[in-house]
Parts: sequence; C-alpha cells; structure tokens
Amino acid sequence: MLTRQAMWDRLGTAVDLVVIGGGITGTGIARDAVRRGLSVALVEQRDFAFGTSSRSSKLVHGGLRYLEQYEFSLVFEAVSERRVLMDIAPHLVNPLGFLFPVYENSRKPLWMVNAGMWVYEGLSLFRSPKRHRTLKSKEEVKGEEPSLSVDGMTGAPLYYDCSTDDARLTLENAIDAARQGAAVVTYASAVSFVKQEGRISGVVVQDTRTGALKSVTASAVINATGPWADRTLSMSGGGKRLLRPTKGVHIVVPHARVPVNHAIVLLHPDDGRVLFAIPWGEHTYLGTTDTDFEGDPAEVAATRSDVDYLLAAARRYFPDHPVGHDDVISTWAGLRPLIAPSGVGVSESSVSREHQIVVGEDGLVTIAGGKLTTYRRMAAEVVDTAVQLMRLTTPTLPKLVPSQTEHEPLPGAVGWPADDDHDRVAAQVVEASAGHLSLPTAQLLARTYGMRAMELAKRVAADPTVAAPLVLGRPEVLVQVDWAADEEMACAVADVFVRRTQLYYRAADQGLSALPLVAARLGARLGWTEAQVAAEIEAYQAEVALSRAWRADG
Ligand SMILES: Cc1cc2nc3c(=O)[nH]c(=O)nc-3n(C[C@H](O)[C@H](O)[C@H](O)COP(=O)(O)OP(=O)(O)OC[C@H]3O[C@@H](n4cnc5c(N)ncnc54)[C@H](O)[C@@H]3O)c2cc1C
Repeated sequence: MLTRQAMWDRLGTAVDLVVIGGGITGTGIARDAVRRGLSVALVEQRDFAFGTSSRSSKLVHGGLRYLEQYEFSLVFEAVSERRVLMDIAPHLVNPLGFLFPVYENSRKPLWMVNAGMWVYEGLSLFRSPKRHRTLKSKEEVKGEEPSLSVDGMTGAPLYYDCSTDDARLTLENAIDAARQGAAVVTYASAVSFVKQEGRISGVVVQDTRTGALKSVTASAVINATGPWADRTLSMSGGGKRLLRPTKGVHIVVPHARVPVNHAIVLLHPDDGRVLFAIPWGEHTYLGTTDTDFEGDPAEVAATRSDVDYLLAAARRYFPDHPVGHDDVISTWAGLRPLIAPSGVGVSESSVSREHQIVVGEDGLVTIAGGKLTTYRRMAAEVVDTAVQLMRLTTPTLPKLVPSQTEHEPLPGAVGWPADDDHDRVAAQVVEASAGHLSLPTAQLLARTYGMRAMELAKRVAADPTVAAPLVLGRPEVLVQVDWAADEEMACAVADVFVRRTQLYYRAADQGLSALPLVAARLGARLGWTEAQVAAEIEAYQAEVALSRAWRADG
C-alpha cells in the first residue's frame, strides 16, 4: 500500500534533504536524490502536480521556436531529454506528428522552415520519433488535414515531437521516490524554516488536513515550488523577486468541432503568437495564451477573453467548423515560472534562459524556471548543487552513487514491450481481467498506468464489480478510484478527477455525475466522516466552478 497517510507517518524528524514542492521539478529531484543514497522528504501543500505540472501543453518537445533565436544548446538538451523520456517512460511519452502550415504571409518562407526542420532533426542526432517530410501541395495537406484552411498556403512540413500526461509523469516520479524510501507527502505545507546561526537547518511542515505540525531537520533544503518560489523565498526572509510568472490557458473541445489528425502549429491571426491545436482522443485542446499574472497561483483560471482569443484562432484556421463557447468542455490555466530579467541578489550557481539554480546566504537552494521536458536533467543538476553544499556542512555524509535516472525506467515502464506495442499490452490487460474489462478501458489503463495496469486488471478479475464505469459511456472505471487511494496517495476527490483520471478535463460534465460515488468510495477507504464526504463534494464542485467562471465574465 502506498497511501498518503503512510507517507505522513514516514515523515521523520531528520533527513539529509527536504524538497518543498511536488511538481515535476520537486518529484524529479526527490527521485534522483533518493536513488543516489540520500534520505529524502518531499512536502507538497496540495496534490502532486497541483501547480503548473498538470497545466502544461503536455508536450515533450525540443522547442522548435528556440531555433529562431539560434539557441542550439537548449534545443539539443531538450531533444536529448525527449529521447531519454521515450526510453524511461514509453507508456507515457508518445510520438505525435506536428503539421506546420506556411502561408504566403507567414513570417518565415517555406524553404526557411524546412531548413529549420533539418537542423531540428540534426540536433536530435537524427533520433527524432520519426523523420519529417514536407507536404508541398494544398491537395497533400487536405489529404492529411481535410478541415484545415489551405487558402494562401505554400506548404506544410510534418515533423515529430511527443505528447504526454504531465500529471502522471509527475506522479510516477513521486511513486518511484516513495518506493526507494523517500517520504513524499501531499497536503503537507512547508510553513516556516528552522535556522541555526543564520543557516536553514530544517523545515516546519503542517498537515493541511489536520493542522498537525512536524519539524524536520535536514542538511539541505530545496525550494522547488515553481510559481510559488518567491513566496517560499520570502518565508526565509528573502524580499526580492526571482519570477515574473505569465499565465497560459488551454481549452478542450470535442474533436468533431476542431477535427485535427495531427497537432497543428498555428500563428494567431491577431498577434502572430504560436498556438497549438492538439488531438486528444475524442477531444482537441487548443493553447496557449500568454499574459502577465500577479494573483494567488492557486486561483489561476481562464477568463472569457482567454477563451475568445483561442476560439478566434480556431475559427480562422478551421472556417468550416465555427467553434463557439458552447463547445468548450473544460479549460485549464497554468503559470510559467519564468525568471525575471533582474536577479535576486544571491549567488548563482547556474544560469540558463530556461532555468536557474540560486543558493541563498542561508543555504536555501531554489530552482526556478525550466520545462517539463528537461525536468530529469534539471533535477540531477539541483541534486549536484545540494550535495556540494551538504559536503561542506555535513562531513559524515555517506558516499553517494552518481545520478542514474537516465537509465532507470519509471514504475509503469518496467516490463513494457521493447517494440512499444500499446495494443499488445491492452490485450494482456483484458486477459488479466478475465475478460471483464472492455478493450477501450484496457487501452486507457495501459497508456495511463503502463505495465502496472495488470495489477488493476487483477483486482477486476477478483471482483468484477470494480469494472463499473464512473461516467456512463466513458472508459474510466471504479477500480481506478480504489487504486488511486491505495497505491497513488490520492486523498481528495479532486486528486482522482483532475490528476489521476482526467475526467475533469474529458467528461462532458467534468465528472460531476460520478461525484457522489467517487466521494463515498474514497471516503470508505480513507475513513472520512459523512461531513468530510460532503465537504469533499463541495470542494470539487467549487473547483469545477472556478474552471467555468469565464462563462459568467463580460
Ligand atoms: C501554459 C503552460 C504550458 C507549458 N507547456 C509545456 C510543455 O508542453 N512542455 C514542457 O516541457 N513544458 C511546458 N511548460 C513548462 C512546465 O509545465 C513547467 O516548467 C513545470 O511544470 C514546472 O514544474 P514545477 O515543479 O517547477 O512547478 P509546479 O508544478 O507549479 O510545482 C510547484 C509545487 O509547489 C507546491 N508548493 C508551493 N508552495 C508550497 C509550500 N509552502 N509547501 C509545500 N508545497 C508547496 C505547489 O502546490 C506546486 O504543486 C508549460 C508551462 C505552462 C504554464
């Protein structure tokens, strides 16, 4: 069992390293550090991936746009990491074709975009998920993308990057860290630092569900709180700003309303910004916007103008499918933890345009910026920095092994077929469930849990009632709720709907019809009172309402 309560109980009074923040950055750091031989505690104020790490464009990509700025080393790093993630998480990181339509009035002519494609592939040492090719005629483009406007189009390169489930990538890092012995605790907020002679020597952690406090001493503390990084810094007395966060919004519509076969790179008709229309099973999502944001990172949400901006782009490129407000099923909004142009007045151990590691005079190691794609490499770099610091202050620190995460599969990837045959795994899942799971559900479980889907299937074989669908007509099933509580540290209804099953984004009612069932089921497993079940129902309703608040704007 890997429950949230077990993790809180595991949280001891002294460790080598405390990581604050359970996004992709924090969980990646915890996994790297515990696998090197350090004792590790990670605390997350809400759920894993509650912040930006469940609100990205869900791409593992090289960042084609950096080529425009001749940032070859950034692209090289990202495409190298794309390959690593395809190897260590093949169930979660999947090739996706991107069509890049070029029009007569495009900023770059077709020959230049084509040249960029060769450079992009060259930087991956020609190990892209697939080779690019250029669709040269409007007919060819229509053949691939019948709904896309080809008026004035001069051609369209088709290249390959990867898509992923950002929240699950984060969760798999957390699960692996926990399996290796780390205490990774959700609903546990770092509320203050313990200091000795001006240096941080520990963290006071509050269980946000019960109010209980624990003080954990550590040789090093890492601030991996993404858009909250400045707030965490201010807890240690730092006053200057490291970040200038910007908000990015995505909207989800039925696939039939924006019927794309590949991800399409679009330049917004109003301001020329790059957007994506990305196929997502029976849906398409569109994003993203880019606007300054000053408020509470926990309250970030789409506004009506964000939604209008995205719909306007879709209508321009798919004129035969005039998509409107009523087509929007769900939205999500995230904050880019971008580094402010001016520094923070602390020594920098590493600087790049993508991320920055800063070490405060009190010893707090802060990691800011970065990308989902490069999290693993970034995590290794942060742990290197923390270990150097620990060697100065803790002579008794044991000998550690170097970072190995490049070669260590994430939990769902263990035993995954070398030929990446998702269908074969899905067939095995149906078989392991003694035929009680439908093929669409087995496919969903395989791409969500990897080979761990077999364990869910075995539960179904033992008790076929847990193969019941959560929402009528959809593939998600009851056993996923049990699994989330027993093995994935879920302890709130939103943990299940938003980050363990994606029903929040994908179900037409955002999962509300299954809300009483899921709350009661979780409550029974986690020992909630009736009042707690009711409070959980209310909390999820409020979360859905926040994502729909744009409808009441203007
Ligand atoms: C719109 C958008 C699209 C993007 N698309 C992509 C993409 O397609 N590909 C890509 O590679 N990158 C993408 N990125 C970038 C990527 O998503 C982020 O760089 C990454 O998710 C940041 O992760 P993080 O762990 O640093 O921050 P977060 O995921 O925000 O995690 C920080 C965590 O710290 C917790 N926390 C805060 N304060 C405390 C406290 N006091 N105690 C305990 N916990 C605390 C928060 O609850 C939060 O969960 C995108 C970003 C945005 C905004």
